[in-house]
Amino acid sequence: MAYKHVRLPEDGQKITVENDQMNVPDNPILGYVEGDGIGPDITKACLRIWDAAVEKAYGGKRKIHWAELFMGEKAAKVYDGDYFPAETLEAIKDLWVAIKGPLTTPVGEGFRSLNVSLRQELDLYACVRPVRHYAGVPSPLKDPGKVDVVIFRENTEDVYCGIEYQSGTDENKKLAKFLKEEMKADFFDDAGLGIKPISEFGTKRLVRKAIQYAIDNGRESVTLVHKGNIMKFTEGAFRAWGYEVAREEFGHCTITEDQLYSEYNGRQPEGKIVIKDRIADIIFQLMLLRPDDFDVLATMNLNGDYLSDAAAAEVGGIGIAPGANMSDNIAVFEATHGTAPKYADKNKVNPGSLLFSGVNMLEYIGWQEAADLISLAYPEVLADKIVTYDFARNMEGATEVGTKEFADALIEQINGGIDLETKRKQRSEKLARERKQREIRRLLQPMEEMIASGRTPTSVSDVMTRSLITVTDDTSVHDAMHEMRKNEVSSLVVEPNDSGEWGIMTRRDIVTKIVREGKSPTDLTVGEIASRPVVTVTPETHLREAANVIAEKNISRLLVAGKDGEPMGITTETDIFGAIEQSGWLPEA
Ligand code: NAP
Repeated sequence: MAYKHVRLPEDGQKITVENDQMNVPDNPILGYVEGDGIGPDITKACLRIWDAAVEKAYGGKRKIHWAELFMGEKAAKVYDGDYFPAETLEAIKDLWVAIKGPLTTPVGEGFRSLNVSLRQELDLYACVRPVRHYAGVPSPLKDPGKVDVVIFRENTEDVYCGIEYQSGTDENKKLAKFLKEEMKADFFDDAGLGIKPISEFGTKRLVRKAIQYAIDNGRESVTLVHKGNIMKFTEGAFRAWGYEVAREEFGHCTITEDQLYSEYNGRQPEGKIVIKDRIADIIFQLMLLRPDDFDVLATMNLNGDYLSDAAAAEVGGIGIAPGANMSDNIAVFEATHGTAPKYADKNKVNPGSLLFSGVNMLEYIGWQEAADLISLAYPEVLADKIVTYDFARNMEGATEVGTKEFADALIEQINGGIDLETKRKQRSEKLARERKQREIRRLLQPMEEMIASGRTPTSVSDVMTRSLITVTDDTSVHDAMHEMRKNEVSSLVVEPNDSGEWGIMTRRDIVTKIVREGKSPTDLTVGEIASRPVVTVTPETHLREAANVIAEKNISRLLVAGKDGEPMGITTETDIFGAIEQSGWLPEA
């Protein structure tokens, strides 16, 4: 299309998208919006850094051709008072990928936030916030290096939809009347009312994007964050639809956390991503105590809003936290802070948020080497304590520099010969080591892991006792009792009899079949008092079903056997009680 004010660089080529597949030429045209306030300062600095990294990584073979697009105050000047020109939207659709600085929300009647308008007009339904620590950035955590998550926050639904009715208005009264009279809802008369829509469509496209990201980036897990124990048909539905999309569309490369324990004994199979879920309030605690348990997080709008800022603060990064808003194929990367008007044109602020949004943009178009150069050069500059005022405030002996000088120092590091291969190798070795440690913890202490990692027990494998003591039919009851006492167990598994049936002998059998009957343990064998056939369940059996079996058969323990019929453990009503008492209970199947 012919643009009025947008100039597409002649040497550049547009990115194309066919069948959801992005084709990036070596000379792509990417859009940028400078933004208001501190926007021009940080944008100028970042353009230089991104270009330097691309030049260094590809030696001139690749180059970004930037097209300036206009929104906010600059747009109002260029487009005669229009803060949100239609042409900018068209150009973003045309170029697929753009990056923007912060925008002032014009104050006054009728103005929507430009950022919100942009999201709505382009249906940018996923807000993507990578949160990781860069060595040297001041952080409140003891070990911030363990934080490395990417949060996918749903951008279009939830209580942010604006379906709200102020207390006392006619609309509010009308809705309240309907809810009370027709739906028998109960709430105080003067309540303001808001609606929380969470749809299958909105949930699935967000979770689909999160899982696809995890696959493309070799991530370990995707966690669905929700408060489904309280809000069953919105947050609970998000959880259910999330698991559904994983199962139906990514079944070949995902397993659930339940399967991880029940089928794989805690050992994550190569090439499979674990899909798990956590209650929203617990995730805040876990992100502080065990951040390395999490990788990609998929959240609804409100939870994600809180969580992404809280997580960014953990790595000292609220001022340098990057972000992007995406539709199926359009991606707009952006600084997550505002325009900080008091610092406008002062060459003062930290360019980090926009800088790392650009790093994510380079990764998004597949230019990983250029992205890595910046990520690896950045800690080197911080190690020299060359920082902008905001970090200098929290750093002893810092050399405070302006935005431009910070960019100079970073470009010098980029050009100074970072040993990309060695640093990458060190990072991937560290990640592999941490992954192994997590696996060992899962293997050795599954129950402790479940409780500490905030996982709610759902299946028999979550609660069963795995150490089995087996005896044969011809063992004397006296010897068997000695085994029980020595191993501190209340039951023994009895090996198959001639008909191939496994058995079980419990303390209760001793009481009812020996003591009560006035017999002697030395005169009897295990085979004479063992119960057969034993009631068996699989590790995947849902706890609710296991509880049903226990109730129906009037027994207190179940033998847990694998698909081949081999016993793997025992589960008792005490195990189920203990697990639920300690970690809570999420009733949905
Ligand atoms: P803000 O612009 O983010 O600034 C708040 C404070 O954060 C600043 O005073 C400064 O703290 C610190 N800060 C922000 N960016 C920084 C940077 N790059 N380097 C170092 N410190 C930085 O928030 P605001 O003052 O509430 O909002 C100002 C305008 O921005 C409003 O019009 C708002 O609507 C808009 N806004 C836009 C976006 C967006 O476009 N994505 C987002 C949020 C807000 P100190 O004072 O401690 O130095």
